[in-house]
Amino acid sequence: MLETPENAILETFESQKVYFATHQTKSVSFRIQQLKKLRKSIKVNQTKIEEALWKDLHKSPEEAYLTEISIVLNEIDYHILNLKQWAKPKRVHTPLHLRPSSSKIIYEPLGVALLITPWNYPFQLLINSLIGAISGGCCSILKPSPDAPTIAKLMEEMIASIFAPEYACVLQGGKDTNTILLQQKFDVIFFTGSSRVGKIIMKAAAEHLTPFILELGGKSPCIVGKEANLDVAARRIAWSKLINSGQTCIAPDYLFVHSSIKNQLLTKITKEIENMYGKNPQESRFYPRIVNNKAHQRLQGLLKQGTIHTGGNFDEEDLYIAPTIIDDVKENFEIMKEEIFGPILPVMTYEKVIEAIDFINKNEKPLAFYYFGKNARAKEVLSKTSSGGGCINDALLNIANHHLPFGGVGNSGLGKYRGNRSFLAFTNERSIVSTPTWIDLRFRFVPFKFYKWVKRIV
Ligand code: NAD
Repeated sequence: MLETPENAILETFESQKVYFATHQTKSVSFRIQQLKKLRKSIKVNQTKIEEALWKDLHKSPEEAYLTEISIVLNEIDYHILNLKQWAKPKRVHTPLHLRPSSSKIIYEPLGVALLITPWNYPFQLLINSLIGAISGGCCSILKPSPDAPTIAKLMEEMIASIFAPEYACVLQGGKDTNTILLQQKFDVIFFTGSSRVGKIIMKAAAEHLTPFILELGGKSPCIVGKEANLDVAARRIAWSKLINSGQTCIAPDYLFVHSSIKNQLLTKITKEIENMYGKNPQESRFYPRIVNNKAHQRLQGLLKQGTIHTGGNFDEEDLYIAPTIIDDVKENFEIMKEEIFGPILPVMTYEKVIEAIDFINKNEKPLAFYYFGKNARAKEVLSKTSSGGGCINDALLNIANHHLPFGGVGNSGLGKYRGNRSFLAFTNERSIVSTPTWIDLRFRFVPFKFYKWVKRIV
């Protein structure tokens, strides 16, 4: 594994602290310039990025563009367009008893940011965090996942070619590198990864009382009501579950289907899988592989309980697992206890939707939530459950709109980002009251001479 030596980690961190203190990263025009540099470099390196994603995950260039590169380019454009407005101090109302003072919020860059990201969308997640940090006026240390090594190396080279290391720098390694990094007093930590590591990050942040954002995972449910348009539901479920071979934080983790339509739905999903990936998905250039042997073996273990309805075969040497539907799943099966993060879709049924709601509410709050059916019923189900985000009659699209804050709740995350929320994630909303000196009303000063009247207006 590629690992940055400890002294280089510490030197980079110290140099960023010094550089941030020069205040150069704070001007809005500087930030916009850096965003433009980043955009240009992504365009220049697009083919290399696509090749790296193919090498690490067998992602097709089409999927790489649609789920990683285009999302990042749109995000950069949105920040370039809006940053001036977002960064402007905002005047807010001042209550009568505080007049003639005025009040405003100043958006102050937090400082040196630590960005830690996972391997599943290794380009998109790393660069989207960086966009927020640049937009917020911060310096950044980026730590990509060692499990997608080709793209991690390429990102190191790309960032080094456009930014000085004291401004933004990619450091390599896994747990050990993170352990050294987390001992430093960063000004903000932005972490994307599992809930398990999220707890380690939160503990480390607590040591220095460092602000942090945790973008975590979980089991995102997908309920299909008996009134759903089954053709559309089947196509959208197959697509959203199998993009990146199910290694998507907001993929539908499991299905909860009304019992009267289960057989019909599963037949249709199977047909859609074949339409998308052919009779043998292993031969399709659109079907990604599982990230490594450890993850592959974990997924093999989840195939042991229930009835295989579709797929179920795998090839460990090729890191391939066929798109798989498992029927007759019970709540206490292993597959219902952990985030699946692979192309396996367990199916449970219900007679009354409250059974699905009760199951969801018994478990940790998910990152996403999907309901296929009539809007009125979706509204009821949404009002009785909780999740970071979700879709009605669709899946995954909640991440594609930068006007929507993205993030989890409870076990699936803490804090949101994308668009303006990314800018806010890296800034301190500093509240300032400004008071003129031409008048100095005495009523607030001890010994509270006009207390009787003042009480009426305060
Ligand atoms: P992970 O938590 O194992 O790793 C994430 C990062 O933490 C990596 O950079 C890794 O090197 C580092 N890390 C691992 N163990 C560590 C430790 N003990 N101490 C310090 N750092 C450590 O996650 P992963 O396997 O890379 O990614 C999969 C998880 O990420 C899933 O749970 C998925 O749902 C979640 N995810 C969430 C989002 C989101 O936006 N909410 C996006 C993608 C993935």
